[in-house]
Amino acid sequence: MRFARLATVASTFALAAALTACGSSEKTVDAQASASGAAGTAGALVGVTMPTKSSERWIHDGDNVKASLEKLGYKVDLQYAENDIPTQVNQLENQITKGAKLLIIASIDGTAITTQLQEAADKHIPVIAYDRLIRNSPNVDYYATFDNFKVGVQQATSLLVGLKLKTADGGDGDAKGPFNIELFAGSPDDNNATFFFNGAMSVLKPYIDKGTLKVQSGQTDFKTVAILRWDPATAQKRMEDLLTKTYSGGKKVDGVLSPYDGLSIGILSALKSNGYGTAGQPYPTVTGQDAELASVKSIIAGEQYSTIYKDTRQLADVTVKMADTVLKGGKPEVNNTKDYDNGNKVVPSYLLDPVIVDKTNYQKIIIDSGYYTQAQLG
Ligand code: BGC
Repeated sequence: MRFARLATVASTFALAAALTACGSSEKTVDAQASASGAAGTAGALVGVTMPTKSSERWIHDGDNVKASLEKLGYKVDLQYAENDIPTQVNQLENQITKGAKLLIIASIDGTAITTQLQEAADKHIPVIAYDRLIRNSPNVDYYATFDNFKVGVQQATSLLVGLKLKTADGGDGDAKGPFNIELFAGSPDDNNATFFFNGAMSVLKPYIDKGTLKVQSGQTDFKTVAILRWDPATAQKRMEDLLTKTYSGGKKVDGVLSPYDGLSIGILSALKSNGYGTAGQPYPTVTGQDAELASVKSIIAGEQYSTIYKDTRQLADVTVKMADTVLKGGKPEVNNTKDYDNGNKVVPSYLLDPVIVDKTNYQKIIIDSGYYTQAQLG
């Protein structure tokens, strides 16, 4: 199955290559890369910066990118910053000083590293934004990610399926509602968070407008529902406050839009300490993202309803191919040259496909693809 998917990725690559126009930013990279010369980049140092080890996905990402680069003969400096912006800034500066020939960056705050990117550009070091777009800088050459708007659409769709307003194949479900839901969004300094939220609201808003879904707290705007640094404890606290302020008079929450598994775990714990998760009062439909081990187990146990699976092995493959091509003086394949405007330019991007995972398909998507073994899931 994985091979089938990779074959699709490969053929999409070929198509994208044929279709991609030659943007000016790409010309700049070509010029930079050929200035350093293919021969000069054999065994070159590549700097890889990841936001944190507190979430499993980034550990997989870092390990996969490092291993694939090393397989191609590159040296790799892989750093994690524990969600601390000054630490990430220092790591980038060190990598530039150490002579990195290319930087792969999953930023913490997409607007906070403009100075370091300028230093990189001055030294003709190309930059690939990994998973999260780097904003407000001309010095980002490529972006490899998943279709982030689609992630949000899928989260909202699976919320509707969990509430039985929709069926998994897109038809109308048996339920009529109205249902009480609450909304959560990711970190406001992460460009992805807005994409996820906008994608989700594109699906939910018509239901909210009709009154089929009721956000009882009234909190529906991104700024109010965003959770800084994707912190599970902040999400738990916000859910507790919502339960106390809005749901203490006997109303029940039927669904929670959660954009990330770590937040879902915090949300579920707040629900549990307020009496949910029993036969008489089951958990609401809670979504997620990343297919983190604890959340897949929670889905199997019937607690969290769903997650969005993003195969970090595919993202690493695409990014390393991009890096290798750029380092060898070529132009990497992209499949999107319109959606990711970073405030300074539209960054040529390669978008991968996310997949909804719930109790009905985890075996096929997560286990059969070798992402986790049955033993890991217990
Ligand atoms: C990533 C998500 C992840 C979130 C929190 C986002 O930028 O795209 O996969 O859940 O960060 O780490």
